[in-house]
Amino acid sequence: MITINDLHKSFNQLHVLKGISLTVEKGKVVVIIGPSGSGKTTLLRCLNVLETPNQGKIQIGNVVLDFSQNPAKADIARLRRQTGMVFQNYNLFPHMTALENVMEGPITVKKMDKAAARDKAVHLLTKVGLADKINEYPFQLSGGQQQRVGIARALAMDPQVMLFDEPTSALDPEWVGEVLKVMKQVAQEGMTMVIVTHEMAFAREVADKVIFMDQGVILEQGKPEELFTHPREERTRQFLKLLR
Ligand code: ADP
Repeated sequence: MITINDLHKSFNQLHVLKGISLTVEKGKVVVIIGPSGSGKTTLLRCLNVLETPNQGKIQIGNVVLDFSQNPAKADIARLRRQTGMVFQNYNLFPHMTALENVMEGPITVKKMDKAAARDKAVHLLTKVGLADKINEYPFQLSGGQQQRVGIARALAMDPQVMLFDEPTSALDPEWVGEVLKVMKQVAQEGMTMVIVTHEMAFAREVADKVIFMDQGVILEQGKPEELFTHPREERTRQFLKLLR
């Protein structure tokens, strides 16, 4: 479903991604861990071209972008439509209700008619446990509820792949569990997911593959039980030790 080939990204002189290659099969969940500043968020943002890589190839579904030859805008738009992104700070539209937030993408981007978009949004908000909150505005919702709206909003675009950028790290601890529960449910329904998170218990339980990034490269990857129990690299061991 996803193939990344020798991806590089620099911000001016700072070489942040130094040749990332990775494949994610359909329906699999990949969790990216690693120290702060190692390039995890940049990699995720490159995957839907919120950041433009300097070099390398990204394939998602049937769309391939080669960044050594300026990809066409239309192809970038096609790639973006394959992905749903969930941000650390929810990024909901503050002047719209939960329902309107979820309806917005399908109406404006997919040109879905309003009644169908509404039905879909109600269905998705019910699925994330917010049937009784559809007419609330973001400021009336807890962080956990806002993030669940964020997940419903991303799902409303019927993406092939869901990308999560530290979805629980801005939340008070009491709201983390409900968001992880919804993510687990989405995974169990067969969604292909790439998740940057520090929630190691979640990674152990839900990930098919864990990637350890350090200084812009993938230092090590494997099944969660392998990587967490028998890390091969000293730097991975040090990182995991710090989390305990
Ligand atoms: P992580 O998610 O692993 O903490 P990031 O991908 O956020 O790492 O950041 C990697 C490096 O790239 C950091 O040194 C960060 O300061 C830098 N960086 C990230 N985004 C930008 C940007 N838009 N402009 C300049 N530097 C950036």
